[in-house]
Amino acid sequence: MKKLLVISGKGGTGKTTVAAAMIRFAQAAAFADCDVDAPNLHLVVPMAAEPEQIPFFGSSKAHIDADTCDGCGRCASACRFDAIIAVEGRYGVNVYACEGCGVCAYVCPRKAVTLRPDVAGVRALYAGPPVFSTATLRMGRGNSGKLVTAVKGAMEKAAPEAELAVIDGSPGIGCPVIASVSGVDLALVVTEPTASGFSDLKRLLRTAEVLGVRVAVCVNRFDMHPQTGLLIERYCNEQGVPLAGRVPSDPHVPEAINAGFSIAEVDCPARAALLRVFDNVMGLLKEGTA
Ligand code: SF4
Ligand code: SF4
Repeated sequence: MKKLLVISGKGGTGKTTVAAAMIRFAQAAAFADCDVDAPNLHLVVPMAAEPEQIPFFGSSKAHIDADTCDGCGRCASACRFDAIIAVEGRYGVNVYACEGCGVCAYVCPRKAVTLRPDVAGVRALYAGPPVFSTATLRMGRGNSGKLVTAVKGAMEKAAPEAELAVIDGSPGIGCPVIASVSGVDLALVVTEPTASGFSDLKRLLRTAEVLGVRVAVCVNRFDMHPQTGLLIERYCNEQGVPLAGRVPSDPHVPEAINAGFSIAEVDCPARAALLRVFDNVMGLLKEGTA
């Protein structure tokens, strides 16, 4: 299975629009949404059947048994994350701050603290065909990298025969992005012609380089600021990073998103540009020399 990842330095650059178009053009037998903080691929790639829902357990969380606790306060003093709070002499755990380290349970003289599994999110798997793996992380939970790895793993397991999988990655350069990038055959970086887009792109390229993953770059809404777009393209050329193409601003894009389908289904300039991007990306994947 070849894995094409679509990523961007931040949200709002058109990453999911590009990913949905790649899925549609490729008629991909498997795809995944690894933007677990704000998944929205399902909004533009609607599935016919209901998914299997699987709880995702992150770090354990401390729990204090109020009947056993005598209010000595040792746990609160020992917690370096300030996750134990006392209200009118009663001790409790702030689950958003608790890291599950277990120190409080260790120091408690009355064995009033237990560590309990915590549901940090929900994975969803559409058995297909096509297979679609996605997930939603609960508010304030960490472990997003672990969840991204689980989403990718579920997709691969459910579609072992798929020749191509398209993954809508997490934005940014943090833990979930590293989990998204790991093990893919090509990362298509979607950027926009702005100073922040350029800066984000450079950081993403460094991240991909460290992880040894091949990249290609697509400049979305190129006409928004062509001079910066040209600077980005020149930088990519200097770095030896293949350019997959430019996509113009096109009012059909927000219209398609709001109507709940991929821009690949609309005859418009953005679709034509994305089809060229797709052809270039497929060429790079086949060459294996990106
Ligand atoms: S498990 Fe660790 S982080 Fe959580 S409340 Fe106990 S000491 Fe604090
Ligand atoms: S250390 Fe144990 S007994 Fe003391 S306040 Fe914490 S939970 Fe209660």
